Amino acid sequence: MSLWNRLREGLSRTRERVVQGLGGLLGRRGPVDAATRERLEETLLGADVGPGATERLIARAEERLAREPDLDLGAALERTAAELLGRTRAEFGPDPTAPVKLWVALIVGVNGVGKTTLAGKLAARFAREGRRTLLVAADTFRAAAVEQLDVWAGRAGAEILRARPGADPASVVHDGLASAVGRRFDVVLIDTAGRLHTKHNLMAELEKVGRVCARSVPGAPHHVLLVLDATLGQNAIAQAREFQRAIPVTSLALTKLDGTARGGSVIAIADELGLPISVVGVGEGLDDWEPFDPEAFAQALFDERP
Ligand code: GDP
Ligand code: MG
Repeated sequence: MSLWNRLREGLSRTRERVVQGLGGLLGRRGPVDAATRERLEETLLGADVGPGATERLIARAEERLAREPDLDLGAALERTAAELLGRTRAEFGPDPTAPVKLWVALIVGVNGVGKTTLAGKLAARFAREGRRTLLVAADTFRAAAVEQLDVWAGRAGAEILRARPGADPASVVHDGLASAVGRRFDVVLIDTAGRLHTKHNLMAELEKVGRVCARSVPGAPHHVLLVLDATLGQNAIAQAREFQRAIPVTSLALTKLDGTARGGSVIAIADELGLPISVVGVGEGLDDWEPFDPEAFAQALFDERP
């Protein structure tokens, strides 16, 4: 399946909700009347766009309609959503214009959001590009977590540094980076644990891991990827704020966009947090992810064609 189709397919439940809610209105031109505005608000809130982002989306779409009278409502919403989604941009991966010898990324987020799965998918992408890729299993609290990452490493064609269960995550990261430097790896992806049992512990642990990265490899971590579960909708925003307090987040990954009718939350998340989204997860398979493209995403949300 092409990238575009995977995204469209993944967002189909959200799109159905939007298109049904706005039935017939998306093709309308001219100013938005009161009844249309009400339907818009109801539908966007129903797709979990959230109150603040819903207001901004409608207000800016109205401005756009006034400026560009040839547009219909659907196109105005689509372009405005793309604008809100793409205010800041980030790519997950080494910057080709400023290549570093060893690029280190830290993957963080609470339990169950899809960190390990995404680490596997991204490792496969780097391995396919011919980069020597090491997965570091810094989730040492559950033995099963290391096994799970091991399976992904096998699928991805990447190597894994296996931690002893119960080992200190920072020491695992230290060993992983020492090994990656010594063996001339190109990319290291560190899969962390997502315990949020106390905020203090989480912060202390992430800070320690961050320090170990910086001591081991100049400039590391080069990217901190915060993984959020799109099915959590607005709740993901509160989660993100906790992590932002613990560690400087570079970009967001939104997972599980397949199978949710709350895909509109992605607009609220990008708009409220002011952080770029770099990747989205749309399934459990190796290829079920893609680099985030605000225009394609907005189009997949508001496109009326079946
Ligand atoms: P972690 O605890 O953050 O490492 O989360 P996992 O990677 O273990 O994922 C938790 C569950 O979510 C697993 O059953 C994954 O297969 C599933 N999962 C992860 N990403 C996606 C996705 O994009 N779509 C769907 N449908 N499931 C996903
Ligand atoms: Mg995990």
